[in-house]
Amino acid sequence: MHVEVNGGQRKPAEAPELAAWRLLHDAITGAGHTVVGVCDGCRQPLLSDQPGIAAIVWTIQTPRGPLQIDNAVRSPDGPMATEEADVLIQATYAERVQPGQAVFSGMLLTIMTLPLLLWLGAGFTFFSFLYLLYRGGMSVPN
Ligand SMILES: [Zn+2]
Repeated sequence: MHVEVNGGQRKPAEAPELAAWRLLHDAITGAGHTVVGVCDGCRQPLLSDQPGIAAIVWTIQTPRGPLQIDNAVRSPDGPMATEEADVLIQATYAERVQPGQAVFSGMLLTIMTLPLLLWLGAGFTFFSFLYLLYRGGMSVPN
């Protein structure tokens, strides 16, 4: 069973629908536990590893309508392949996660790369100087 921290502290870093879908996807493909309820604290799936236990129907909203998920996926148009639902749900929810995060990571990388570039630049200048000095010493005018 899912062990609950008081006050819903199991807050997923990604969109809650995406976090729930991972558990539902594992449940469908048989790689995980059965989804038997909703956690009061964090609204994420409650899992059970009891054999033969009935799965609840979990609903995820998508641009193609609500997907009903238990042991399989059903869209308003009928049954949907698990991998098709995966693509749809990823496309719907994957980009919503903290839009500032990627920008921040990019800036941090730039800031960390700058000293390295300066160091390489200084090294290149120094060795260019030595090389020119060496070449200069060789080409004595006759
Ligand atoms: Zn929870």
